[in-house]
Amino acid sequence: MAAFILEKLCHGCQRCLRACPNEAIKMVAHLPVVHPEQCDECEECMEVCMHGAITFRIEEESNHAR
Ligand code: SF4
Ligand code: SF4
Repeated sequence: MAAFILEKLCHGCQRCLRACPNEAIKMVAHLPVVHPEQCDECEECMEVCMHGAITFRIEEESNHAR
């Protein structure tokens, strides 16, 4: 599955946008959104995110407030 942004952890720094070789991440309002059809799961975005806001697990995670 494609990368998934955990909105609660994201600081909107846009490092992931710049890191993505496929331009699969776009800013919508102040949050990045992954377009799954363009994502090839290279994990570059996850590497550069300093806030641990990118995951490859299912969306359920975002619903668990920590
Ligand atoms: S690199 Fe992480 S914190 Fe920065 S915009 Fe992307 S998901 Fe958010
Ligand atoms: S996993 Fe790779 S292709 Fe997918 S959004 Fe992240 S950087 Fe882009």
